[in-house]
Amino acid sequence: MNVPAGENKVAKQSPLYSRDTHPEDTIIKVGNALIGGGNFTLIAGPCAIEDEQLLIETAQKVRDGGAHILRGGAFKPRSSPYSFQGLGIQGIKLLEQARKASGLPIITEIMDPNAAEMLDEHVDIIQVGARNCQNFTLLKRVGQCKKPILLKRGMMNTLQELLMSAEYIMSEGNHNVILCERGIRTFETATRNTLDLSAVPVLKAQTHLPIIIDPSHAVGHSQYVAVMARAALAVGADGVMVEVHGRPEDAWCDGDQSLTPQQFSEMVDQLRPIADIIGMKM
Ligand code: PEP
Ligand code: MN
Repeated sequence: MNVPAGENKVAKQSPLYSRDTHPEDTIIKVGNALIGGGNFTLIAGPCAIEDEQLLIETAQKVRDGGAHILRGGAFKPRSSPYSFQGLGIQGIKLLEQARKASGLPIITEIMDPNAAEMLDEHVDIIQVGARNCQNFTLLKRVGQCKKPILLKRGMMNTLQELLMSAEYIMSEGNHNVILCERGIRTFETATRNTLDLSAVPVLKAQTHLPIIIDPSHAVGHSQYVAVMARAALAVGADGVMVEVHGRPEDAWCDGDQSLTPQQFSEMVDQLRPIADIIGMKM
């Protein structure tokens, strides 16, 4: 088989994500929050941005409970076109108000490359969701953004594929990529997905990029979220992202897996002694 000379050359270079290219851990600074390099970062907030007052209250409560970054979706990837799709631009405005009210930096998901410029201007971290892990057009576009990108592993992607998706972003010039394991699809039905915690040590060996765990989307039930967050910390993750809603029973999206602000605070209280023992800053 004839391999084009150019292809051969590319294959021999170490990828940008690899520790051969960059041996030290990448540390990403967002507002006052640090991600990577011995910091355990807590990202919390509702699945979807719904209501101004509730979002602001939730933001202040998770901040008081120890969160470093506020999450909230304005463009939601829903399985059904008839489900709530998110508030769109209006949601981004509410998220900015919640940033102002809480002092927390904000993260939200991008679905459409056409929204990249707007999101790059208005939010602090841009999330590429599991369903877009191999949307190469979107990955290249966010690679041109200034803001850090949180890249979720697709529910059917290998770790090598996740790393190559990170490479798509980095190859466009944006080296501030945070990897996120959020559970993969298996035959198990007791949990929404199967949380692959072994992703953490495997990725740590191969990449300098920070790795966080999303236990909410992984397990799908609020009762299992805190224990898997503790496991994430123990296994060496750089942080967790959890869904928190002021009234989970009324949530428009993912209420079953959402913690109350009180449950979030309890989870953080359980994490602190573990962080102390293993020498992670929280
Ligand atoms: C989310 O974090 O809002 C989300 C949709 O998660 P995932 O892409 O992991 O399903
Ligand atoms: Mn969700």
